[in-house]
Amino acid sequence: MLKNDQLDAWDRENFFHPSTHLAQHARGESPNRIIKTASGCHIEDRDGNRLLDAFAGLYCVNVGYGRAEIADAIAEQARELAYYHSYVGHGTEASITLAKMILDRAPANMSKVYFGLGGSDANETNIKLVWYMNNILGRPEKKKIISRWRGYHGSGLMTGSLTGLELFHKKFDLPLAQVIHTDAPYYFRRDDLSQTEEQFTAQCAASLEALIEREGADTIAAFIGEPVLGTGGIVPPPAGYWAAIQAVLKKHDILLIADEVVTGFGRLGTMFGSDHYGIEADIITIAKGLTSAYAPLSGSIVSDKVWNVLEQGTDENGPIGHGWTYSAHPIGAAAGVANLRLIDDLNLVDNARDTGAYLNAAMRDALSDHPHVGEVRGEGLLCAVEFVKDRDTRAFFDAADKIGPQIAAALLDRDKVIARAMPQGNILGFAPPFCLTRDEADSVVAATARAVNTVLG
Ligand code: PMP
Repeated sequence: MLKNDQLDAWDRENFFHPSTHLAQHARGESPNRIIKTASGCHIEDRDGNRLLDAFAGLYCVNVGYGRAEIADAIAEQARELAYYHSYVGHGTEASITLAKMILDRAPANMSKVYFGLGGSDANETNIKLVWYMNNILGRPEKKKIISRWRGYHGSGLMTGSLTGLELFHKKFDLPLAQVIHTDAPYYFRRDDLSQTEEQFTAQCAASLEALIEREGADTIAAFIGEPVLGTGGIVPPPAGYWAAIQAVLKKHDILLIADEVVTGFGRLGTMFGSDHYGIEADIITIAKGLTSAYAPLSGSIVSDKVWNVLEQGTDENGPIGHGWTYSAHPIGAAAGVANLRLIDDLNLVDNARDTGAYLNAAMRDALSDHPHVGEVRGEGLLCAVEFVKDRDTRAFFDAADKIGPQIAAALLDRDKVIARAMPQGNILGFAPPFCLTRDEADSVVAATARAVNTVLG
Protein backbone atom coordinates (compact mmCIF):
# COMPACT_ATOMS: atom_id res chain seq x y z
CA MET A 1 0.00 0.00 0.00
CA LEU A 2 1.24 3.50 -0.81
CA LYS A 3 2.39 5.65 2.09
CA ASN A 4 0.22 8.65 2.97
CA ASP A 5 2.96 11.18 2.27
CA GLN A 6 3.44 9.69 -1.20
CA LEU A 7 -0.27 9.95 -1.93
CA ASP A 8 -0.31 13.47 -0.55
CA ALA A 9 2.54 14.52 -2.86
CA TRP A 10 0.94 12.89 -5.91
CA ASP A 11 -2.37 14.50 -5.05
CA ARG A 12 -0.89 17.99 -4.95
CA GLU A 13 1.14 17.41 -8.11
CA ASN A 14 -1.51 15.76 -10.28
CA PHE A 15 -5.04 16.06 -9.06
CA PHE A 16 -7.22 19.04 -10.07
CA HIS A 17 -9.81 19.11 -7.27
CA PRO A 18 -13.27 20.57 -7.91
CA SER A 19 -14.52 23.50 -5.81
CA THR A 20 -11.13 23.98 -4.18
CA HIS A 21 -8.80 26.93 -3.58
CA LEU A 22 -6.22 25.67 -6.06
CA ALA A 23 -3.29 27.83 -4.94
CA GLN A 24 -3.74 27.10 -1.23
CA HIS A 25 -4.08 23.42 -1.94
CA ALA A 26 -0.95 23.30 -4.09
CA ARG A 27 0.97 25.06 -1.31
CA GLY A 28 -0.20 22.48 1.19
CA GLU A 29 -2.22 25.02 3.19
CA SER A 30 -5.49 23.16 3.00
CA PRO A 31 -6.01 19.73 4.47
CA ASN A 32 -5.78 16.69 2.31
CA ARG A 33 -7.93 13.99 3.81
CA ILE A 34 -7.67 10.70 2.00
CA ILE A 35 -10.70 8.51 2.63
CA LYS A 36 -10.18 4.79 2.78
CA THR A 37 -13.36 3.00 3.70
CA ALA A 38 -16.82 3.55 5.14
CA SER A 39 -19.75 1.81 6.76
CA GLY A 40 -23.19 3.04 7.86
CA CYS A 41 -22.83 6.72 8.78
CA HIS A 42 -19.06 6.53 9.34
CA ILE A 43 -16.10 7.01 7.05
CA GLU A 44 -12.51 6.17 7.86
CA ASP A 45 -9.47 8.00 6.56
CA ARG A 46 -5.98 6.66 5.92
CA ASP A 47 -4.78 7.98 9.26
CA GLY A 48 -7.25 5.70 11.02
CA ASN A 49 -9.69 8.47 12.00
CA ARG A 50 -13.30 7.29 12.17
CA LEU A 51 -15.60 10.17 11.29
CA LEU A 52 -19.36 10.46 11.61
CA ASP A 53 -20.44 11.78 8.22
CA ALA A 54 -23.37 14.04 9.04
CA PHE A 55 -23.48 15.28 5.45
CA ALA A 56 -23.69 11.88 3.66
CA GLY A 57 -20.85 12.82 1.33
CA LEU A 58 -22.50 15.68 -0.54
CA TYR A 59 -25.99 14.84 0.68
CA CYS A 60 -25.99 11.79 -1.52
CA VAL A 61 -25.09 8.57 0.34
CA ASN A 62 -28.66 8.33 1.56
CA VAL A 63 -28.79 4.63 2.44
CA GLY A 64 -25.43 4.86 4.20
CA TYR A 65 -22.06 3.42 3.28
CA GLY A 66 -21.03 -0.19 2.76
CA ARG A 67 -24.32 -1.65 1.56
CA ALA A 68 -23.44 -5.09 0.25
CA GLU A 69 -26.77 -5.36 -1.66
CA ILE A 70 -25.80 -2.46 -3.90
CA ALA A 71 -22.16 -3.47 -4.24
CA ASP A 72 -23.25 -6.98 -5.29
CA ALA A 73 -25.76 -5.62 -7.81
CA ILE A 74 -23.02 -3.46 -9.35
CA ALA A 75 -20.56 -6.36 -9.51
CA GLU A 76 -23.13 -8.70 -11.05
CA GLN A 77 -24.09 -6.11 -13.65
CA ALA A 78 -20.43 -5.43 -14.50
CA ARG A 79 -19.84 -9.13 -15.04
CA GLU A 80 -22.98 -9.76 -17.04
CA LEU A 81 -23.04 -6.58 -19.13
CA ALA A 82 -20.81 -3.67 -18.14
CA TYR A 83 -22.11 -1.42 -20.86
CA TYR A 84 -24.41 -1.03 -23.70
CA HIS A 85 -25.83 2.25 -24.96
CA SER A 86 -29.45 3.26 -24.89
CA TYR A 87 -29.62 5.10 -28.23
CA VAL A 88 -32.23 4.20 -30.88
CA GLY A 89 -34.32 2.06 -28.62
CA HIS A 90 -31.63 -0.05 -26.94
CA GLY A 91 -31.91 -0.83 -23.25
CA THR A 92 -31.00 -3.21 -20.49
CA GLU A 93 -33.09 -4.97 -17.89
CA ALA A 94 -31.62 -2.71 -15.22
CA SER A 95 -32.39 0.59 -16.98
CA ILE A 96 -35.92 -0.44 -17.97
CA THR A 97 -36.67 -1.74 -14.46
CA LEU A 98 -35.31 1.41 -12.87
CA ALA A 99 -37.40 3.69 -15.10
CA LYS A 100 -40.49 1.73 -14.06
CA MET A 101 -39.54 1.91 -10.37
CA ILE A 102 -39.00 5.67 -10.56
CA LEU A 103 -42.34 6.27 -12.26
CA ASP A 104 -44.10 4.06 -9.72
CA ARG A 105 -42.82 6.43 -7.03
CA ALA A 106 -43.12 9.74 -8.88
CA PRO A 107 -46.15 12.07 -8.91
CA ALA A 108 -49.02 10.78 -11.07
CA ASN A 109 -48.61 13.25 -13.95
CA MET A 110 -45.11 11.99 -14.76
CA SER A 111 -44.57 10.02 -17.95
CA LYS A 112 -40.95 9.04 -18.79
CA VAL A 113 -37.41 9.15 -17.40
CA TYR A 114 -34.39 10.33 -19.37
CA PHE A 115 -31.19 9.14 -17.67
CA GLY A 116 -27.97 11.12 -17.27
CA LEU A 117 -24.98 10.96 -14.97
CA GLY A 118 -25.20 13.78 -12.46
CA GLY A 119 -27.46 16.61 -11.40
CA SER A 120 -25.78 19.17 -13.66
CA ASP A 121 -26.22 17.26 -16.88
CA ALA A 122 -29.81 16.37 -15.95
CA ASN A 123 -30.62 20.04 -15.59
CA GLU A 124 -28.85 20.80 -18.89
CA THR A 125 -31.16 18.18 -20.44
CA ASN A 126 -34.19 19.80 -18.84
CA ILE A 127 -33.46 23.20 -20.32
CA LYS A 128 -32.84 21.71 -23.76
CA LEU A 129 -36.14 19.81 -23.53
CA VAL A 130 -38.02 22.96 -22.61
CA TRP A 131 -36.46 24.84 -25.53
CA TYR A 132 -37.15 21.97 -27.93
CA MET A 133 -40.72 21.87 -26.70
CA ASN A 134 -41.31 25.58 -27.28
CA ASN A 135 -39.80 25.36 -30.76
CA ILE A 136 -42.17 22.50 -31.59
CA LEU A 137 -45.07 24.54 -30.23
CA GLY A 138 -44.12 27.42 -32.53
CA ARG A 139 -43.05 29.81 -29.78
CA PRO A 140 -39.36 30.29 -30.46
CA GLU A 141 -39.18 33.48 -28.37
CA LYS A 142 -40.32 31.72 -25.18
CA LYS A 143 -36.88 30.62 -23.95
CA LYS A 144 -35.72 32.45 -20.83
CA ILE A 145 -35.36 30.49 -17.62
CA ILE A 146 -36.03 31.91 -14.18
CA SER A 147 -34.14 30.55 -11.21
CA ARG A 148 -33.67 31.91 -7.69
CA TRP A 149 -30.78 33.66 -6.03
CA ARG A 150 -29.19 31.06 -3.75
CA GLY A 151 -30.58 28.21 -5.86
CA TYR A 152 -28.11 25.49 -6.84
CA HIS A 153 -28.62 23.62 -10.09
CA GLY A 154 -25.13 22.53 -11.10
CA SER A 155 -21.97 23.99 -12.54
CA GLY A 156 -22.23 23.51 -16.31
CA LEU A 157 -22.61 26.50 -18.64
CA MET A 158 -26.39 26.65 -18.38
CA THR A 159 -26.69 25.08 -14.97
CA GLY A 160 -23.90 27.20 -13.51
CA SER A 161 -25.92 30.16 -14.80
CA LEU A 162 -29.06 28.87 -13.12
CA THR A 163 -27.15 28.47 -9.87
CA GLY A 164 -27.77 31.72 -8.03
CA LEU A 165 -24.46 31.87 -6.16
CA GLU A 166 -21.92 34.44 -7.23
CA LEU A 167 -18.94 32.14 -6.77
CA PHE A 168 -20.22 29.93 -9.58
CA HIS A 169 -20.45 32.89 -12.00
CA LYS A 170 -17.32 34.79 -11.10
CA LYS A 171 -14.68 34.80 -13.87
CA PHE A 172 -16.67 32.28 -15.92
CA ASP A 173 -18.64 34.87 -17.92
CA LEU A 174 -21.86 33.54 -16.40
CA PRO A 175 -24.79 33.75 -16.15
CA LEU A 176 -25.74 33.23 -19.79
CA ALA A 177 -28.14 35.79 -21.21
CA GLN A 178 -31.17 33.46 -21.20
CA VAL A 179 -31.13 33.12 -17.41
CA ILE A 180 -32.79 35.54 -15.00
CA HIS A 181 -32.89 35.31 -11.22
CA THR A 182 -35.66 36.08 -8.81
CA ASP A 183 -35.73 36.40 -5.01
CA ALA A 184 -34.64 33.61 -2.71
CA PRO A 185 -37.49 32.48 -0.40
CA TYR A 186 -35.27 33.17 2.58
CA TYR A 187 -37.58 34.28 5.37
CA PHE A 188 -34.84 34.65 7.98
CA ARG A 189 -33.05 37.17 5.73
CA ARG A 190 -36.11 39.22 4.76
CA ASP A 191 -35.58 42.99 4.59
CA ASP A 192 -38.65 43.78 6.66
CA LEU A 193 -38.45 41.83 9.90
CA SER A 194 -42.05 42.73 10.79
CA GLN A 195 -43.36 40.59 7.90
CA THR A 196 -45.16 37.30 8.65
CA GLU A 197 -44.24 34.23 6.60
CA GLU A 198 -47.44 34.65 4.61
CA GLN A 199 -46.64 38.28 3.86
CA PHE A 200 -43.12 37.36 2.80
CA THR A 201 -44.48 34.60 0.55
CA ALA A 202 -46.84 37.09 -1.06
CA GLN A 203 -43.87 39.40 -1.63
CA CYS A 204 -41.86 36.60 -3.32
CA ALA A 205 -44.80 35.78 -5.59
CA ALA A 206 -45.38 39.46 -6.43
CA SER A 207 -41.72 39.97 -7.16
CA LEU A 208 -41.74 36.93 -9.48
CA GLU A 209 -44.80 38.23 -11.26
CA ALA A 210 -43.27 41.70 -11.67
CA LEU A 211 -40.16 40.09 -13.20
CA ILE A 212 -42.31 38.06 -15.61
CA GLU A 213 -44.26 41.16 -16.63
CA ARG A 214 -41.08 43.17 -17.09
CA GLU A 215 -39.47 40.53 -19.29
CA GLY A 216 -42.69 39.47 -21.01
CA ALA A 217 -44.29 36.08 -20.29
CA ASP A 218 -43.97 35.18 -23.97
CA THR A 219 -40.16 35.23 -23.54
CA ILE A 220 -40.05 32.94 -20.49
CA ALA A 221 -40.07 29.17 -20.83
CA ALA A 222 -39.59 27.81 -17.33
CA PHE A 223 -38.91 28.37 -13.65
CA ILE A 224 -36.53 26.05 -11.83
CA GLY A 225 -36.31 25.63 -8.07
CA GLU A 226 -35.33 23.19 -5.36
CA PRO A 227 -38.21 22.33 -2.98
CA VAL A 228 -35.84 23.33 -0.15
CA LEU A 229 -32.88 25.57 -1.05
CA GLY A 230 -29.86 23.32 -0.50
CA THR A 231 -26.36 24.55 -1.19
CA GLY A 232 -27.59 28.14 -0.88
CA GLY A 233 -28.02 27.58 2.87
CA ILE A 234 -30.55 24.76 3.54
CA VAL A 235 -33.60 27.00 3.62
CA PRO A 236 -37.11 25.50 3.73
CA PRO A 237 -39.64 27.77 2.01
CA PRO A 238 -41.96 30.06 3.96
CA ALA A 239 -45.59 28.96 4.48
CA GLY A 240 -47.60 28.76 1.27
CA TYR A 241 -44.61 29.51 -0.97
CA TRP A 242 -45.01 26.76 -3.56
CA ALA A 243 -48.75 27.27 -3.96
CA ALA A 244 -48.22 31.00 -4.51
CA ILE A 245 -45.37 30.52 -6.99
CA GLN A 246 -47.24 27.86 -8.94
CA ALA A 247 -50.27 30.12 -9.28
CA VAL A 248 -48.10 32.81 -10.90
CA LEU A 249 -46.41 30.31 -13.23
CA LYS A 250 -49.72 28.78 -14.34
CA LYS A 251 -51.20 32.18 -15.01
CA HIS A 252 -48.30 33.03 -17.35
CA ASP A 253 -47.98 29.59 -18.96
CA ILE A 254 -44.46 29.00 -17.60
CA LEU A 255 -43.26 25.45 -16.96
CA LEU A 256 -42.02 24.38 -13.55
CA ILE A 257 -38.88 22.29 -13.11
CA ALA A 258 -38.54 20.88 -9.59
CA ASP A 259 -34.86 20.22 -8.94
CA GLU A 260 -35.10 17.25 -6.57
CA VAL A 261 -31.44 16.27 -6.76
CA VAL A 262 -31.19 16.60 -2.97
CA THR A 263 -34.82 16.03 -1.98
CA GLY A 264 -35.69 13.12 -4.31
CA PHE A 265 -36.10 9.64 -2.79
CA GLY A 266 -36.81 10.52 0.77
CA ARG A 267 -34.67 13.25 2.29
CA LEU A 268 -37.67 15.30 3.40
CA GLY A 269 -39.46 12.26 4.79
CA THR A 270 -41.59 11.85 1.68
CA MET A 271 -40.52 10.12 -1.54
CA PHE A 272 -40.23 13.48 -3.32
CA GLY A 273 -40.11 17.04 -2.08
CA SER A 274 -42.93 17.65 -4.55
CA ASP A 275 -45.15 15.36 -2.44
CA HIS A 276 -44.15 17.23 0.68
CA TYR A 277 -44.98 20.71 -0.63
CA GLY A 278 -47.73 19.93 -3.17
CA ILE A 279 -45.53 20.89 -6.11
CA GLU A 280 -46.96 19.91 -9.49
CA ALA A 281 -43.87 20.02 -11.64
CA ASP A 282 -43.62 19.57 -15.41
CA ILE A 283 -40.13 18.10 -15.07
CA ILE A 284 -38.37 16.69 -11.99
CA THR A 285 -34.58 16.46 -11.73
CA ILE A 286 -33.19 13.48 -9.83
CA ALA A 287 -29.62 12.38 -9.08
CA LYS A 288 -27.80 11.81 -5.76
CA GLY A 289 -30.39 9.71 -3.86
CA LEU A 290 -31.29 7.74 -6.99
CA THR A 291 -28.27 5.50 -6.44
CA SER A 292 -27.21 6.86 -3.04
CA ALA A 293 -24.01 7.76 -4.96
CA TYR A 294 -22.93 4.13 -5.33
CA ALA A 295 -22.63 4.93 -9.05
CA PRO A 296 -23.15 8.17 -10.99
CA LEU A 297 -26.68 8.36 -12.34
CA SER A 298 -29.25 11.10 -12.75
CA GLY A 299 -32.57 11.53 -14.43
CA SER A 300 -35.08 13.97 -15.86
CA ILE A 301 -38.61 12.79 -15.14
CA VAL A 302 -40.87 14.42 -17.71
CA SER A 303 -44.61 14.85 -17.39
CA ASP A 304 -47.25 13.78 -19.89
CA LYS A 305 -47.60 17.40 -20.93
CA VAL A 306 -43.93 17.68 -21.89
CA TRP A 307 -43.63 14.17 -23.28
CA ASN A 308 -46.56 14.55 -25.68
CA VAL A 309 -44.96 17.57 -27.32
CA LEU A 310 -41.52 15.94 -27.51
CA GLU A 311 -43.00 12.86 -29.12
CA GLN A 312 -44.85 14.94 -31.66
CA GLY A 313 -41.60 16.84 -32.32
CA THR A 314 -39.80 13.75 -33.48
CA ASP A 315 -42.58 12.95 -35.95
CA GLU A 316 -41.94 16.36 -37.47
CA ASN A 317 -38.15 16.55 -37.11
CA GLY A 318 -36.68 13.08 -36.82
CA PRO A 319 -34.92 11.63 -33.77
CA ILE A 320 -34.24 13.95 -30.86
CA GLY A 321 -30.61 15.08 -31.11
CA HIS A 322 -29.75 14.71 -27.47
CA GLY A 323 -27.89 11.85 -25.81
CA TRP A 324 -24.89 10.96 -23.69
CA THR A 325 -22.75 7.87 -24.26
CA TYR A 326 -23.48 6.93 -20.67
CA SER A 327 -27.23 7.71 -20.58
CA ALA A 328 -28.83 4.89 -18.58
CA HIS A 329 -25.47 3.24 -17.90
CA PRO A 330 -26.32 -0.31 -16.80
CA ILE A 331 -24.05 -0.20 -13.75
CA GLY A 332 -25.67 3.00 -12.53
CA ALA A 333 -29.10 1.54 -13.25
CA ALA A 334 -28.30 -1.68 -11.35
CA ALA A 335 -27.15 0.45 -8.40
CA GLY A 336 -30.37 2.46 -8.63
CA VAL A 337 -32.61 -0.62 -8.60
CA ALA A 338 -30.81 -2.10 -5.58
CA ASN A 339 -30.83 1.28 -3.83
CA LEU A 340 -34.57 1.88 -4.27
CA ARG A 341 -35.31 -1.66 -3.07
CA LEU A 342 -33.20 -1.07 0.02
CA ILE A 343 -34.99 2.21 0.76
CA ASP A 344 -38.31 0.32 0.66
CA ASP A 345 -37.15 -2.78 2.54
CA LEU A 346 -35.65 -0.78 5.41
CA ASN A 347 -38.37 1.92 5.49
CA LEU A 348 -35.66 4.51 5.14
CA VAL A 349 -38.02 7.29 4.06
CA ASP A 350 -39.89 6.90 7.36
CA ASN A 351 -36.58 6.94 9.17
CA ALA A 352 -35.57 10.14 7.37
CA ARG A 353 -38.83 11.71 8.54
CA ASP A 354 -38.66 10.52 12.15
CA THR A 355 -34.94 10.86 12.79
CA GLY A 356 -34.96 14.13 10.88
CA ALA A 357 -37.65 15.54 13.15
CA TYR A 358 -35.68 14.30 16.17
CA LEU A 359 -32.40 15.82 14.93
CA ASN A 360 -33.98 19.17 14.12
CA ALA A 361 -35.74 19.36 17.49
CA ALA A 362 -32.58 18.40 19.39
CA MET A 363 -30.49 20.93 17.45
CA ARG A 364 -33.05 23.64 18.21
CA ASP A 365 -33.09 22.75 21.91
CA ALA A 366 -29.32 22.78 22.14
CA LEU A 367 -28.55 25.90 20.12
CA SER A 368 -31.51 28.23 19.64
CA ASP A 369 -30.66 30.33 22.70
CA HIS A 370 -27.00 30.83 21.87
CA PRO A 371 -26.27 34.55 21.44
CA HIS A 372 -24.65 33.97 18.04
CA VAL A 373 -27.19 31.54 16.62
CA GLY A 374 -29.65 33.40 14.44
CA GLU A 375 -31.71 30.42 13.37
CA VAL A 376 -31.85 26.64 13.50
CA ARG A 377 -33.95 25.40 10.59
CA GLY A 378 -34.59 22.25 8.63
CA GLU A 379 -36.99 19.77 7.13
CA GLY A 380 -36.71 15.99 7.15
CA LEU A 381 -33.05 15.03 7.31
CA LEU A 382 -31.83 18.49 6.37
CA CYS A 383 -30.78 20.85 9.13
CA ALA A 384 -28.88 24.13 9.25
CA VAL A 385 -27.58 26.47 11.90
CA GLU A 386 -27.06 30.08 10.85
CA PHE A 387 -24.63 32.18 12.86
CA VAL A 388 -25.00 35.93 13.34
CA LYS A 389 -22.85 38.60 14.90
CA ASP A 390 -25.90 40.10 16.58
CA ARG A 391 -29.19 38.31 17.15
CA ASP A 392 -31.37 41.42 17.22
CA THR A 393 -30.11 43.05 14.05
CA ARG A 394 -29.18 39.71 12.39
CA ALA A 395 -25.92 41.36 11.39
CA PHE A 396 -23.66 39.01 9.46
CA PHE A 397 -20.25 38.02 10.64
CA ASP A 398 -17.62 39.20 8.16
CA ALA A 399 -17.04 36.56 5.52
CA ALA A 400 -13.35 36.82 6.44
CA ASP A 401 -14.18 35.58 9.95
CA LYS A 402 -15.06 32.22 8.38
CA ILE A 403 -17.24 31.29 11.33
CA GLY A 404 -18.94 28.39 9.53
CA PRO A 405 -15.63 26.82 8.43
CA GLN A 406 -14.11 27.37 11.89
CA ILE A 407 -17.01 25.59 13.59
CA ALA A 408 -16.93 22.76 11.05
CA ALA A 409 -13.19 22.38 11.71
CA ALA A 410 -13.70 22.37 15.50
CA LEU A 411 -16.44 19.76 15.12
CA LEU A 412 -14.16 17.56 13.11
CA ASP A 413 -11.06 18.01 15.27
CA ARG A 414 -12.57 17.24 18.62
CA ASP A 415 -15.55 15.03 17.98
CA LYS A 416 -14.84 13.64 14.52
CA VAL A 417 -18.16 14.78 13.11
CA ILE A 418 -18.43 16.03 9.53
CA ALA A 419 -20.87 18.87 8.88
CA ARG A 420 -20.69 21.23 5.91
CA ALA A 421 -19.80 24.89 6.10
CA MET A 422 -22.22 25.99 3.40
CA PRO A 423 -20.53 28.04 0.68
CA GLN A 424 -22.69 31.14 1.25
CA GLY A 425 -22.71 32.83 4.62
CA ASN A 426 -21.92 31.50 8.05
CA ILE A 427 -24.13 28.47 7.92
CA LEU A 428 -23.41 24.96 9.11
CA GLY A 429 -25.36 22.26 7.28
CA PHE A 430 -26.34 18.70 8.19
CA ALA A 431 -27.73 16.08 5.80
CA PRO A 432 -26.88 12.68 7.26
CA PRO A 433 -27.61 9.28 5.76
CA PHE A 434 -31.18 8.04 6.35
CA CYS A 435 -29.91 5.22 8.54
CA LEU A 436 -28.81 7.72 11.21
CA THR A 437 -29.86 6.49 14.67
CA ARG A 438 -31.12 8.68 17.49
CA ASP A 439 -27.90 8.01 19.39
CA GLU A 440 -25.91 9.23 16.42
CA ALA A 441 -28.18 12.27 16.13
CA ASP A 442 -27.52 13.00 19.83
CA SER A 443 -23.76 12.78 19.23
CA VAL A 444 -23.99 15.18 16.30
CA VAL A 445 -25.96 17.71 18.35
CA ALA A 446 -23.73 17.48 21.44
CA ALA A 447 -20.60 17.82 19.32
CA THR A 448 -22.05 20.79 17.45
CA ALA A 449 -22.91 22.57 20.69
CA ARG A 450 -19.34 22.02 21.92
CA ALA A 451 -17.85 23.29 18.66
CA VAL A 452 -20.06 26.38 18.68
CA ASN A 453 -19.02 27.16 22.26
CA THR A 454 -15.35 26.59 21.43
CA VAL A 455 -15.41 29.04 18.52
CA LEU A 456 -17.97 31.59 19.66
CA GLY A 457 -17.85 31.29 23.45
N1 PMP B 1 -29.13 20.34 -8.30
C1 PMP B 1 -29.04 20.37 -6.97
C2 PMP B 1 -30.24 20.76 -6.17
C3 PMP B 1 -27.85 20.02 -6.34
O1 PMP B 1 -27.76 20.08 -5.00
C4 PMP B 1 -26.75 19.61 -7.12
C5 PMP B 1 -25.44 19.19 -6.49
N2 PMP B 1 -25.20 19.54 -5.21
C6 PMP B 1 -26.90 19.63 -8.51
C7 PMP B 1 -28.09 19.98 -9.06
C8 PMP B 1 -25.76 19.27 -9.39
O2 PMP B 1 -25.48 17.93 -9.31
P1 PMP B 1 -24.06 17.35 -9.74
O3 PMP B 1 -23.06 17.94 -8.81
O4 PMP B 1 -24.26 15.88 -9.62
O5 PMP B 1 -23.84 17.76 -11.15
